[in-house]
Amino acid sequence: MTDPDTYTTLCDKIDQSLMVEDLTTMISIPSMNPFQQEVRKNYREKEMAEFYCDRMSDLGLEVSSRDVVPGRPNVWGVLKGKSNGASLMLAGHLDTVGDENYPGAFIPRIENNRVFGRGACDMKDALASYLEVVRVIRDEGIELSGDLILTGTADEEDQMIGSKDLGKNGPWADYGIIGEPSNMEVCSAHMGQVGYLVRSLGKAVHSSRPEDGINAIEGMMHIVDALKALQQDLMSRDAHTLCGHGRCGPAVIRGGTVVSTVPDYCELEIDRRIIPGETRDDVYAELYSLISSVVQSHPQFRFEIEGPTIDVLPLDVPADNPVLNSVLGLVRSVTNNSAEASAFYGGTDAPHFGFSTVIFGAGALQQAHSMNEYVEIDDMMITTRVYLCSVLDLLYRT
Ligand SMILES: [Zn+2]
Repeated sequence: MTDPDTYTTLCDKIDQSLMVEDLTTMISIPSMNPFQQEVRKNYREKEMAEFYCDRMSDLGLEVSSRDVVPGRPNVWGVLKGKSNGASLMLAGHLDTVGDENYPGAFIPRIENNRVFGRGACDMKDALASYLEVVRVIRDEGIELSGDLILTGTADEEDQMIGSKDLGKNGPWADYGIIGEPSNMEVCSAHMGQVGYLVRSLGKAVHSSRPEDGINAIEGMMHIVDALKALQQDLMSRDAHTLCGHGRCGPAVIRGGTVVSTVPDYCELEIDRRIIPGETRDDVYAELYSLISSVVQSHPQFRFEIEGPTIDVLPLDVPADNPVLNSVLGLVRSVTNNSAEASAFYGGTDAPHFGFSTVIFGAGALQQAHSMNEYVEIDDMMITTRVYLCSVLDLLYRT
């Protein structure tokens, strides 16, 4: 713990131009997630990882990396604390979403005090901020009591294999912050997401005699109806304070071959958003029993269920957690507003880490994944101040 004047003095050392330079360099390294496709133009997540390692190494961190799958590493750097105090991880993902219909996505542009380009707010801005935090700490000769760890994870935008590996194999910390674009809200919770694939199997015949066949699309319609009923039921259950109710719905449907054939096959991808307290096993059991009841009412159809095809845990950091209270308190003092903990939309790496991690970053989800992604440089300055002060608050003991 240190006094507010020290915070202010150190925050004044944050160099906006260095941070923006790191950000624009990272935007110009296209690190689009391959989304399970084989080879993709501008899939350079590994190059992004190498750049981040080089920068961490320049700053004197002990740098490591581990391939989660060949060619897709998690990377991290450790600024060792002088004693065995609590440790903090500042984490972010190395990948971005795609550049479809986004010309010049990887040509960074600065205009109206904003940095534009794919990854500007989701989330290379935070990676740049973390580097600047370390630079200030190092240049000012601050000795931390516990370890500060910077981490870049692979594959957050798809299956989150990076954070799942990190949760299993480390590195670990006592606390974590992820600078996802939360519009500078401090998010201590979010829903998880579980996906399942359901197949409806029928019997194909010439469509002039549909009564001789079994129409798999019609079979799937019963499942879609049952999902609608489940969604209504979810809304009547107890809500999570920050996340609200769990959600469920049909997301992707494929079926049929040609118009003159009764389809014997239809498949449906179900998107189920789970709130803290719900588990993948609960959700599977519920869907299984829902499909079983459809089968009982419509025995001519056969159904199969497979999954989870996507599996992201929910996040729920307790209200009395030190990292949550540290970030909330600092946001209140840096921005002079009455910040309260809220829920993040969508999933993040945080719940896979296995230690208490909150979400706080510049930019909003409206800009992330859009064809006009940007981050306000002023917001980046605020988030960097909060990251720096959180490091002092949690890791600095005189
Ligand atoms: Zn993100």
